This record gives sequence, structure tokens and C-alpha cells, in this order.
Amino acid sequence: MQENISLKPFNTFGVDASAKYFSEVNSTEELIDILKPSNSQTPFLFLGGGSNILFTKDFDGLAVRLNLKGIIEEIVDNNEILVTAKAGENWHQFVMFCLEKNYGGLENLSLIPGNVGTSPMQNIGAYGTEIKDVFVRCKVLNLETLEVELFDLEKCRFGYRDSIFKQEGKGKYVILEVTFRLTRTNHKVNVEYGAIKSELENLGINNPTIQDVSKAVINIRQSKLPDPKVIGNAGSFFKNPTIPLSQFEDLKHKFENIPGYPNGDFVKVPAGWLIEQTGWKGKQIGNVASHKLQALVMINATGNADGKEIFDFSTKIIDSVKDKYGIELEREVNII
Ligand SMILES: Cc1cc2nc3c(=O)[nH]c(=O)nc-3n(C[C@H](O)[C@H](O)[C@H](O)COP(=O)(O)OP(=O)(O)OC[C@H]3O[C@@H](n4cnc5c(N)ncnc54)[C@H](O)[C@@H]3O)c2cc1C
Repeated sequence: MQENISLKPFNTFGVDASAKYFSEVNSTEELIDILKPSNSQTPFLFLGGGSNILFTKDFDGLAVRLNLKGIIEEIVDNNEILVTAKAGENWHQFVMFCLEKNYGGLENLSLIPGNVGTSPMQNIGAYGTEIKDVFVRCKVLNLETLEVELFDLEKCRFGYRDSIFKQEGKGKYVILEVTFRLTRTNHKVNVEYGAIKSELENLGINNPTIQDVSKAVINIRQSKLPDPKVIGNAGSFFKNPTIPLSQFEDLKHKFENIPGYPNGDFVKVPAGWLIEQTGWKGKQIGNVASHKLQALVMINATGNADGKEIFDFSTKIIDSVKDKYGIELEREVNII
């Protein structure tokens, strides 16, 4: 265990906060040892890839970096395989591993930063796919009992960028490994998302393989999203708000161009559009900005921002959108 460690290398915003104590664990046994009641007076913070976290202050407790590694494959039948990855496996490398073996189901989720163990936290999703579509179960450590438990799809209560781990299970479990059901032969290629279709056309591909879809997704992401290694960010800072249909219809009278994606009695409104329409796209205050190509992405523009400055900037955006549209944006990023 180390003391007073800078968390700057452990968050993709690149903000400098420190943890009173810091430790890295390589196995469930090491994790349990660290969490034993004698050590547990201090608060804990679990770290994956640090790509969905904003430190607004120093952490006065023990930050635990989860470095559990390993992938297990279990053939189900001619078409299906269960693939289990430990929490500390890098997500994109895991997706690439599956694609090299020609296992289908994760290709649309290529190049999402972070670790496998964090993927159920917000049911990571992109380009028409979410992990819930291929999720089987995850193994978790119950922090109260220090017992290992299994959570199946139903128990995880996945929603849009949401799960039990962000709601009533928040702070109660550490995810140790995740199992996915993938295809081996009859792949269901999902190219419904407009940008994937046009990128495949650009690449001259008519009958895409799962590897082609991954390539298209990677190209799109690289052209649109800032690389955290170059500019500190945590991807989409806000969720796309879902509002009642009646509220959307009222707004449509006032703002006829407002985009919306109906879902039953609700409509999802793109947060990026709301941020752009309130004049924040590309705008910079001090060290923080909304990205010029992706309004939804807050960036550490100078590299010198602290977490509080990024948080305050995001509050200004929330206030502007609320004033103009009466819609309350919700932060997707985990605020510490
Ligand atoms: C450029 C960029 C693009 C992105 N694009 C997408 C996207 O398309 N779709 C999407 O869904 N997300 C996206 N994200 C967000 C992010 O990549 C995901 O949310 C990812 O799953 C976070 O993983 P992580 O390991 O980095 O999490 P961390 O930031 O390390 O942790 C996030 C939260 O989970 C907790 N935690 C971490 N590991 C565990 C564990 N094993 N058990 C319990 N709690 C844990 C942490 O304490 C923290 O509260 C993007 C981020 C960036 C920087």
C-alpha cells in the first residue's frame, strides 16, 4: 500500500488529485485481504481505466486499482461461445481478442476506453449495441459480506447508460469478471446505425463481416472523438435526456428543429444538440471547453484543469439548457 499517490495517471481527464492510500490488486484473494474489516475504516474507491470518472477533490481513502487478468472460453454449441474476462482486462483489447477468434457480438463496441469490469456499470453502448445484448452474467464481490455473488441479466437491471451498480447497488459491489454470449458462425451484423452504413460504403464493403464493422466503428470514432492521450476527456459527459412525449410536443411548437427519438410515451433528445443550441459547442472558459466537434464531450483543453473547474463548467451548461428548454441534463461521468 502506498500513501499520497497522484491519481493523474489513472484518469483520462488528466486531472491531478491524490489518494491518501493507493493499492493495486491482481486477484480476488488480494482484494478480499485489503477489504477485510480491520482495514475497512477508510472509504474505498475502485479504479478501472479511469475513463468515466472526474476527481473534483483529493480522495481521503484507499484507491484500489483492479488489475485482475484472464480470459476463459467455453463452447456452448456450433454457433455460440461463452467468453469470460476478468475485470482488469482492457475493453478494446478484449473486443480485438474476440474478433481475432471470429466471435461476434462486440464489434460495434470497438475502441470504447476502459476495462471489462466496468462495462456493466453503465451498460456501455455505442452504434446501436449495448453490452446487455450479449451479457450473460457477472461475478461480483459483495463489499458488506465479502462473499462472491453472481448477477444475471435480470439482476443487473440494465438501462440506457445505467444498471443496478449505479442505482441501489452503488458502492456495494466490486465487479470481478463478466461473461458474454458470442456467436461463432451465424453472426448478426448490426449496421443499422447510419454512420456505420456510410463508412462501410466509403470502404467499398457491401457484405460486411464483424471485423469490417469493427473497422468502420474505429474509423468513425477516431474521426469524431478526441483521443484522451492527446486531450483529456471522459467521452460523453452527459446522458441524452429522455422526456415525456407531451413535453417534447410542447417544445416542438417553440423549437421546430428539435430532434427527438420516440420510445413509447417518451422521447430521447440528443444532449449534444441542446448544448450546441445554447451556444456551448467549442466554447472555452479557463482551462475547460466543450469539444468543437462533439459538444457532449468536455475537455481539459489546456491540460491544467482541475476537476472542480470541469464540474463547474458542466453546471453552467446544465443551467443554460434548463433555462432555454426546461430539460435537466444528467451527468454520465462518475463524480468523486
Ligand atoms: C474518448 C471516450 C469515449 C467513450 N465512449 C463511450 C461510448 O461510446 N459508450 C460508453 O458507454 N462509454 C463511453 N466512454 C466512457 C467509458 O469509456 C466507459 O464508461 C467505460 O466503461 C469506463 O471504464 P473504466 O474502466 O475506465 O471506468 P473507471 O473510470 O475506472 O470507473 C468508472 C466508475 O466505475 C467504478 N468502477 C470501476 N471498476 C469497477 C469494478 N470492477 N467494479 C465496481 N466499480 C467499478 C469506479 O469507481 C467509477 O465510479 C468513453 C470514454 C472516453 C474517454
